[in-house]
Amino acid sequence: MKKLVAIFAHPDDESFGIGSTLARYSHEGVSTWYLCGTHGESGTVDPEYMQGYTDVAELRAHELECASHELGLAGVQYLNYRDSGMLGSDDNRHPSSLFAAATDDVARRIIAHIEKLQPDTIITHDQFGGYGHPDHIKLHLATIRAYEMMYGLKFGKNEQGITAVIGEPPASADKVIPRLYVTAFSRRFLTIAVRLLPLFGQNPREFGRNKDIDLVEMTSWFVPITTRIYTKEYVSYKEKASACHNSQRPPTQQGNIITKLAFRRSQNAETFSRVYPAVKKGQPIETDLFG
Ligand SMILES: [Zn+2]
Repeated sequence: MKKLVAIFAHPDDESFGIGSTLARYSHEGVSTWYLCGTHGESGTVDPEYMQGYTDVAELRAHELECASHELGLAGVQYLNYRDSGMLGSDDNRHPSSLFAAATDDVARRIIAHIEKLQPDTIITHDQFGGYGHPDHIKLHLATIRAYEMMYGLKFGKNEQGITAVIGEPPASADKVIPRLYVTAFSRRFLTIAVRLLPLFGQNPREFGRNKDIDLVEMTSWFVPITTRIYTKEYVSYKEKASACHNSQRPPTQQGNIITKLAFRRSQNAETFSRVYPAVKKGQPIETDLFG
């Protein structure tokens, strides 16, 4: 039985971005796991959602349980760091925050899970943290570090400034190394959004619920798409899983036209960038995370 492990920072990252891919592999018989970095403690939650919960962490763990069920996941495990919030927020300084944790310590926690789960494929955040979230960036770095510590690989930046494996694992390496992917999405759509938003009276540099996402800066963040997973038949699972994260205003329920469009546009396929094994120049786009 094949095994897939998604390593992301918050309850909802598994659904909003890559939910259809996880649902597809679950339904195809792959044992699909979510290793979640935090309990999403810093998420903004309207008071009406807090009824019956002692804190945001408890609420969001419950929402993730619901999403996991909808996606057909084999299980959810936590790294048990605290959500750091966006860069510059007070939550960054909390001693238990993922932001405050040393990358090697995070890597060691990841390794403990990888050793238990023995995945064939791992997916994590891209080096820019999607929209720049510091927890996303930390998990990217820590997952790369875990690969270096476990398998003796070396990673750096290629000529395009993208995280890439350098050289081959040492000859003594006897472990099977899981394929490693990061999320990648079309910058073309982002460029269009940046042009359209002002027409709707919105500032593309102050996007999102907390106005802390700079879409203009994001257009300069390039991650090559190497892998396209066709997911049209699994959109309903993604929508149901996303709806579980009610307190976080799933993209499907937002009034924001751009968010709605972005969500709908991504439904035919979800895209990824393969980090290990390295993709050779001119290699065609893959359509499977297991090679
Ligand atoms: Zn997140």
